[in-house]
Amino acid sequence: MIVVMESGATQAHVDHVIKMIQSMGLRTHPIVGTDRTVIAAIGDKRQVDKSAIEQAPFVEQIVPILAPYKRASKEVQATPSRITVAPAGFAFGGTRVGVIAGPCSVEDRLALLEVAAAVKEAGAIGLRGGAFKPRTDPYSFRGLGEAGLQILAEARERTGLSICTEVMSVTEVDLVARYADILQIGARNMHNFNLLVAVARAGKPVMLKRGWSATFDEFLLAAEYMMNEGNQQIILCERGIRTHETYVRNTLPLAIVPAVKKKSHLPIVIDPSHGTGHAYMVPSMCRAAVAAGADGLLIEVHPDPEHALTDGAQSLTPETFAATMREVSRVAEAVGRSV
Ligand code: PEP
Ligand code: MN
Repeated sequence: MIVVMESGATQAHVDHVIKMIQSMGLRTHPIVGTDRTVIAAIGDKRQVDKSAIEQAPFVEQIVPILAPYKRASKEVQATPSRITVAPAGFAFGGTRVGVIAGPCSVEDRLALLEVAAAVKEAGAIGLRGGAFKPRTDPYSFRGLGEAGLQILAEARERTGLSICTEVMSVTEVDLVARYADILQIGARNMHNFNLLVAVARAGKPVMLKRGWSATFDEFLLAAEYMMNEGNQQIILCERGIRTHETYVRNTLPLAIVPAVKKKSHLPIVIDPSHGTGHAYMVPSMCRAAVAAGADGLLIEVHPDPEHALTDGAQSLTPETFAATMREVSRVAEAVGRSV
């Protein structure tokens, strides 16, 4: 619920109400506006004596937070969150569109360093690449593990790009967090609540991918799990959902961009690589995502897609990536943004 204070309330009145709410076992999140302060009260409502709060001095009214997610909701925070990633210093959620690009998985040191330099040159702010790969088929390439993380760290040293890489299990959070700047939760793990909690506690920005069968509310509730652990740095990522269609690997619902903007203050990034499964579709979906207002793009780029160990069919070459960046720049400019 949200407790709206009257405009004449002093800090002492606000503190009194905060104490009262906390004594009922709820956590508080005060939001100081120009005219008045509102206090979001979050937690188990069963012990709450609403009428006692209503009677406290300078309380104007109590309104319920309607969305099932609270901290992720626009009802609690109206202004967009800006999530800054190191070492690039880029903030997701502002006027600039952030592009994170790189191979599906880290395969080879020289190839990764080459692709990192190329995506940096083309304007990316981050480098992606999985060292721990969630694979449907256990006999396929499952990543280089820590050796892959070391290669990513070397690429960061050389380029200044922020490293975005997946963490698949609770036992690997500390290891991956030592190397990564953005911890990726893969689509298959969006419902892995113990992992969400452990990753949130690492305190780094998180790229949270939507599960392919998750609803919009379930997606935001997964973000809520992490925000409830005190990590507000959640970047949402749409990577396509499973439908009856076969001409695409996944169906990419770009309508999620205006939906997120209406319901949440968190930034939303689009992954058109997994969202289509076909490299030839990726440039147009990048343009469409930026036109729709996406805060960023997550794009698979490989120096030799034909021989990629994972997801070659949906990977751009460094050349097509550079051309796509130029097109995306023009679209961004047309809608008052930049890349
Ligand atoms: C990936 O980013 O390479 C990946 C495995 O994505 P997803 O979890 O969306 O399938
Ligand atoms: Mn992939």
